[in-house]
Amino acid sequence: MDSALRENIKGLPIDALEARMVELGHPAFRGRQLFRWIYSERENDFEKMTDLSKAFRSELLEKFCLPTVQIVEERKSVDGTIKYLVQLPDGEKVESVYIPAEDRYTLCVSTQVGCKMACSFCATGYQKFTRDLKSWEIVEQLMVIKPPHPVTNIVMMGMGEPFDNYDEVIKALKIFQDPMGIKLGKRHITVSTVGLTPKIQQFVDANLGKLAISLHGTTDEQRSEIMPINKKYPINHLMETCKNLKFKGKGRVTFEYILFDGFNDSLDDAHRLAKLVSEFPCKINLLAYNENSFSKLKRPSEDRVLAFQDVLSSYYITTTYRRSRGRDIAAACGQLKTEVANRSLRQLQ
Ligand code: SF4
Repeated sequence: MDSALRENIKGLPIDALEARMVELGHPAFRGRQLFRWIYSERENDFEKMTDLSKAFRSELLEKFCLPTVQIVEERKSVDGTIKYLVQLPDGEKVESVYIPAEDRYTLCVSTQVGCKMACSFCATGYQKFTRDLKSWEIVEQLMVIKPPHPVTNIVMMGMGEPFDNYDEVIKALKIFQDPMGIKLGKRHITVSTVGLTPKIQQFVDANLGKLAISLHGTTDEQRSEIMPINKKYPINHLMETCKNLKFKGKGRVTFEYILFDGFNDSLDDAHRLAKLVSEFPCKINLLAYNENSFSKLKRPSEDRVLAFQDVLSSYYITTTYRRSRGRDIAAACGQLKTEVANRSLRQLQ
C-alpha cells in the first residue's frame, strides 16, 4: 500500500490499540505488544519488532505507519536548559524545552501550532493559530530528544492552550503514563491552562495529572489587559470554579503568577492575590517575566519579587519562586520559533 494511505497507529492509548487489533481479528495482547515496542523500546520499524510473527509484521507493514517528528534546531543554555524546535510532518514547527534541575528533569511540550488565546506577554500569542497537535505529535516531542538525563517530568506549558485541544491532550497523557510504555506517573505531569473553566473539573475528574492555572493578574481590568480570555472567564468565576473543584485524594490547584514590573507586582497585588485564593487549598508559583521584543512588559527586580513572596508567605500560602531558565537561548514560549521564522524571512529578502 502507498505509504501515504497507511493508517497511523501512533497516538492511540493502549486500550484503543488493543481494540484496533481485535477489529483486525487479532487477540488484544497484540495491541499491548505493539504499544510496548513503540513507547518502551521506541521502535518505529515493524520489521525490528522481533517477538511478533513474520506474518503479523508483514500485515502491520502493509496497513500501518509509525510517523515521527524531527528536531530542526537545538539551543543549549549555560544553565543546562535545552530548547528544541520540532518540525511536524506537514512542515509546521513547535517548541519543546528540556529543563534540568537538582532532582527533576522536565520537558515542557507544546499542544498546538500557534495559539488562539493571544496573551500579550507571550511570543506564541502573536503567532497565528494554525492547528491542534495530534496526541502522537505531543508524545513524540519526548520520544525524539536525546537529553543528557532521561526526562522525569512533563509540563504542558509550551505553545498552545492544552484545554483548547482537550481530547488529544487526554490521549497523550494516557500514553505518557502507561506502565507498558513511558511510565511517567501522574504526579510527574502538569497541565497548565489560562483558565478554560468548562474543562477544569473534567480534567480533575480524569485524574491524569496536576492542574496549573495561569493567573498573572489580581483584578479583571489588569488580567484582561494581558489575557483576553479573562473577558470570557473573569477572575471571580475562575476562583469559584477552583473553590468547587472535587479532587480525588489530596489534589490542589497550582497558580502560575508571572510578575511584570510595575504592572502586577505591587504589595497591594500580593495582598489581593492572597485574598483571592484564601478559600481553597492551593500553591502559587511566582516567575519573573522573561522579556521579549514583542511586549513592552518588563522584568521586575529580584527585590520586588521577594517582597511579593513575603506577603504571600505571611498568609501561610505555599509559594515558590522559580528563577527563569534558559534566558540566553530564548527559552520562553514561542520565542525560538519566532526568531527562526524571522531569520528565514531575512534570508529570503
Ligand atoms: S501564554 Fe499560553 S495560552 Fe497564552 S498565548 Fe501563550 S501559549 Fe497561548
